[in-house]
Amino acid sequence: MVSMPTLPLVGATPGHICPFDQACSYLEAAAKELSLDQGILEILSHPRRVVTVSIPVKLDNGDIRVLAGHRVQHSDILGPYKGGTRYHPAVTVNEVSALAMLMTWKCALLGIPYGGAKGGIAIDPQNYSVSELERITRRYTSELIKDIGPALDIPAPDVGTSAREMAWMMDTYSMNVGHAVPGVVTGKPLSVGGSRGREMATGRGVMIIVREALADLGKSLDGVRVVIQGFGNVGGAAAELLYQAGAKIIAVSTAEGGIFANDGLDIPALKAYAAENHKSIVGFPQSEPIKNAELLTLSCDVLIPAALENQITEENVDQIQAQIVAEAANGPVTLEANRVLEARGVTVLPDILANAGGVVVSYLEWVQGLSYLFWDEERVNREMEHLMVQAYRQVMQQSKMRQVPLRLAAYTLGVGRVAQALSDRGLYP
Ligand code: NAD
Repeated sequence: MVSMPTLPLVGATPGHICPFDQACSYLEAAAKELSLDQGILEILSHPRRVVTVSIPVKLDNGDIRVLAGHRVQHSDILGPYKGGTRYHPAVTVNEVSALAMLMTWKCALLGIPYGGAKGGIAIDPQNYSVSELERITRRYTSELIKDIGPALDIPAPDVGTSAREMAWMMDTYSMNVGHAVPGVVTGKPLSVGGSRGREMATGRGVMIIVREALADLGKSLDGVRVVIQGFGNVGGAAAELLYQAGAKIIAVSTAEGGIFANDGLDIPALKAYAAENHKSIVGFPQSEPIKNAELLTLSCDVLIPAALENQITEENVDQIQAQIVAEAANGPVTLEANRVLEARGVTVLPDILANAGGVVVSYLEWVQGLSYLFWDEERVNREMEHLMVQAYRQVMQQSKMRQVPLRLAAYTLGVGRVAQALSDRGLYP
């Protein structure tokens, strides 16, 4: 057992499942499987930098509020730090640190030359006006001006943020340094150097990995019954692409509640309905309302948690009926629940593989920007699919070779590559 990072570097969330401890447990399991040197494990268990900044913001009513913004840079052994920016009330340094570590293994698993990072502000964006969100985003970016950059740390969207926030971040960074720097963020609008295909990329990656896993079970997407928790950037895109491929999406949910239709939901119509109703899906014609807790335990072939972490826990894991659980969200299955699912023979497609489509297209966006060459969507999707399928096959092969479940197989690949690079680079000084 390695010594955990001491408080307050990463901190803890009293009374809750500790995301950073969970992340370290998976790292330790991989290190044991790889017989990793104890010193290397110790280094990889600690984020390289944890930055917390104050964000004073003037609200529209003239009041001033001071928010805390975090950016955790776990590792830059393989390349610049890379990871999303989350706006959600549950954001803590501990959670952001766990997500930053996950990014390190994800990038290494996909073979893209990035390290891992994550950022966040503990706010509910729904409680702020667009102009307040713009001021918050711009001040957060200014406070991090020396910590981010196209060769240093490249933020992207995550829960509660989108292309809009990335455009504000790119503009603020560019204004501060005196010239346009599109490569400082990915997931930008097309108008400022974004990539075609980025918006749907994480959902597309989920669809590809589910398709490959079904094929290995002798099945296809056609007619397969799918349940999706979360209907945002990731869940919404995954639903649309799976629907197009012939899957029956029988239930989806948002934070406000879920809907169920035994014969499958008309996803394009649901997207239009959500757009007209401020992202709410409850009340969609020809569907029944369903509670989020019930949705997870529905009988289905594929369950896709695409909202937040710790959704499948010791409490509900025994009621999970899906044959495949595809982790579109980061960390939606707790450590204990994961053990139970694996022991029951459920195929758990781990987050660092299943939701990697986003960071892959972020990488392709960064490459296009640095080379001043922009590709059509067909090329972006083709390059992404190639990397996703390659990683999937490597994970399957590793799983068979080591006789371990898919998550441990994915971790041994990701962690192993970073450990190898660290040992080749040597310890400075
Ligand atoms: P988002 O904010 O666009 O969407 C989140 C969705 O989850 C919303 O529909 C929200 O209403 C719903 N939700 C929130 N709490 C819920 C609850 N308790 N029950 C049911 N639904 C709930 O966020 P996103 O970008 O789609 O991210 C979702 C997950 O995917 C996160 O774990 C994120 O880290 C991960 N992820 C995102 C990307 C990306 O490119 N955006 C890439 C990789 C991983």
